[in-house]
Amino acid sequence: MAEDQYDWASLGIDTTKPSIARTYDVVLRGKDNFEVDRAFVAEIVKIVPEIYDVAAYNRGILGRGVRYLAEEAGLRQFLDLGSGLPTVQNTHQVAQAVAPGARVVYVDNDPIVLAHGRALLAENADTTVITADVREPAKILAHEDVRRLIDFDRPVGVMLVGILHHLHDDEDPQGVVETLMDAVPSGSHLFVTSFCASSQEAVDAEQQYQGLLGTGRFRTPEEITRYFDGLELLDPGVVPLPLWRPDGDVPDELTVGQRLMYGGIARKP
Ligand code: SAM
Repeated sequence: MAEDQYDWASLGIDTTKPSIARTYDVVLRGKDNFEVDRAFVAEIVKIVPEIYDVAAYNRGILGRGVRYLAEEAGLRQFLDLGSGLPTVQNTHQVAQAVAPGARVVYVDNDPIVLAHGRALLAENADTTVITADVREPAKILAHEDVRRLIDFDRPVGVMLVGILHHLHDDEDPQGVVETLMDAVPSGSHLFVTSFCASSQEAVDAEQQYQGLLGTGRFRTPEEITRYFDGLELLDPGVVPLPLWRPDGDVPDELTVGQRLMYGGIARKP
């Protein structure tokens, strides 16, 4: 996108600083990003040359996870928090391919997601996108569009894919998860992926994320597993993304990029 194409500021979009959603769009090889976002990714590439592949691993597990939730767990409604800019195989497309009529609410705090999401979803009555902050989960749960599309008496897929690492420790990511999971009934599922402190490169990348983007907390596998406390963690547990129910073969030894994010899914008993 060109910085001078629109009055971005009037849409609440700051083109002078990298944004989480737009830098992720860069590594997904999308078009909805600015020079400042590409410059940030260029710095990360110096530490983790595979960072573009990491985004692909995250989208890979997102697709496999949603397919599992719709096909095998039988879920028909999804709350996708920190959903990001629309790309290929978005949650509603995967879920509705399995179960036409499956309902999806996308939530993101970056106004650029709303701008592009609305265009994608204009003709999909079962899906919507709202601008809200995951650090205020009670507000999200009370939001009229969430209440309109999600029936809290029936199981919900609560997705926090690639977002909890953007919450600082003092923003209480564990409390956010607990508030959301307390609001949904038995049979609901929690789906999390997160940056993981799994190598020296991860530790170095964390420094760059914090310094240039202001967020990016690479947690240990134990810290990530704690999100699922009180839930029934599905096999194979919290693992590097390519190892979560892979569609094909996986190598015996994983690269730094393949271990940079961990994820898992659990069921609320
Ligand atoms: N879930 C998608 C995926 O995994 O492919 C997108 C992940 S992207 C790395 C993280 C998204 O979380 C960004 O779009 C960003 O704007 C959003 N985000 C970050 N902090 C947030 C917050 N406090 N509330 C809501 N969304 C947030």
